Amino acid sequence: MLEEFVARSELTGLELWTPDRVRAAVPHVVQRRLVGALFSPHEMNLDAPAAIAGLTRWLARQPRANVLPGTPAVAVDGRTVLCADGSRHAAGHVVICSGDEFRLLFPAAFAASDLVRCRLQMMSLGPQPASFRLGPVLAAGLTLLHYHAFRDCPTLPALRARLERTHGPLIAQGIHVLVSQGDDGRLVVGDSHAYGQEFAPWSEPTVDALILGELLRVLDPPNREVERRWTGCYAMRRSGEPIFRAEPQPGVEIVTGVGGSGMTRSMAIGEATITRRLAGSS
Ligand SMILES: Cc1cc2nc3c(=O)[nH]c(=O)nc-3n(C[C@H](O)[C@H](O)[C@H](O)COP(=O)(O)OP(=O)(O)OC[C@H]3O[C@@H](n4cnc5c(N)ncnc54)[C@H](O)[C@@H]3O)c2cc1C
Repeated sequence: MLEEFVARSELTGLELWTPDRVRAAVPHVVQRRLVGALFSPHEMNLDAPAAIAGLTRWLARQPRANVLPGTPAVAVDGRTVLCADGSRHAAGHVVICSGDEFRLLFPAAFAASDLVRCRLQMMSLGPQPASFRLGPVLAAGLTLLHYHAFRDCPTLPALRARLERTHGPLIAQGIHVLVSQGDDGRLVVGDSHAYGQEFAPWSEPTVDALILGELLRVLDPPNREVERRWTGCYAMRRSGEPIFRAEPQPGVEIVTGVGGSGMTRSMAIGEATITRRLAGSS
C-alpha cells in the first residue's frame, strides 16, 4: 500500500525505506516483522502548547490586533460582538472560530450542520536518556486506515480487512499510533478517536493500555513510564469534508470543523478566509 501511495502521490521527496534504512534512522524501532517504511520530508513536529502561546504573543504585538484573552464572546448583534465582560466590538466582518463549542453562538446553525465532536486520548512517556533519539516522527500501520490521504490506494480494503482481524479492539477505539519526541526528550504518544457530542470527563485506562501496547510493538523506548495522560476534543464533519463554513447572518461567518489536521492547515485556512473576504469586499 505504501508503494501504491508513493506511485500515486504528487508529493516530492517521498522515500520507501528498507528495514536497514529504518533502523539507521530510528535506532529503537522494533525489528521483529519490520518490512519497511515510508519516509516523508513534509511532516513537521511542533510543541503545540508552546506554538499556541507563541502565536498569541506574536498576535498581541501586531499593531492592528486586539487580543482579549479570557474574554468569551456571548452574542453577536448584527456585526457587533458582545463579550462576557460587557465590552462590545463593532466589525466590518465577524469570523467565528469557536472550535468544538457549538452551543453559545448561533446554536441553530450548528444544530443544522453535520458537525460532531471527536475526543482523543494521548499520553507522554517520561524523560528518556540523553543519548536517546527517536528520529523522525513515527506512525505505525493503523495510520494507513486513519488518514484520507491513503483512501484511494487500491490495497486499502484488503489491508483494512486484515487489520480488523488482527487489531479489532484498537480499530474499535479509533486508535492509530503516532509518536514524536519533544525538545525535552519526552515521547508524545497518540491517539484514540471517539465521536459524539458529550463525553465523560475521565480518560479510559483500557484505551491508554491499547495505545501503549501498540506503541511497544513498533518502538522500544528506554523509559516506558507514562508521565502524563490527557484528552482533547476537536470539531469535524461527519461527511469527511475538510472544513465547515456557514454564514448564519450577513457579515458573520462560521469557520470550524477542521478535524484532526487543523493545526497543520490552520495558517492556510486563516489566509484563505481573509483573502476570500477581501476579494468579496473589493
Ligand atoms: C489531542 C489532539 C491532538 C491533535 N493533534 C493534531 C496534529 O497532530 N496535527 C494537526 O494538524 N491537528 C491536530 N489536532 C487538531 C487541531 O488541534 C484542531 O483541528 C484545531 O485546534 C482546530 O482549530 P480551531 O481554531 O478550529 O479550534 P480550537 O483550536 O478548538 O480553538 C477554538 C478556540 O475558540 C475558543 N472559543 C470557543 N468559543 C468561544 C467564545 N464564545 N468566545 C471566545 N472564545 C471562544 C476556545 O476556547 C478555543 O480556544 C489535534 C487535536 C487534539 C484535540
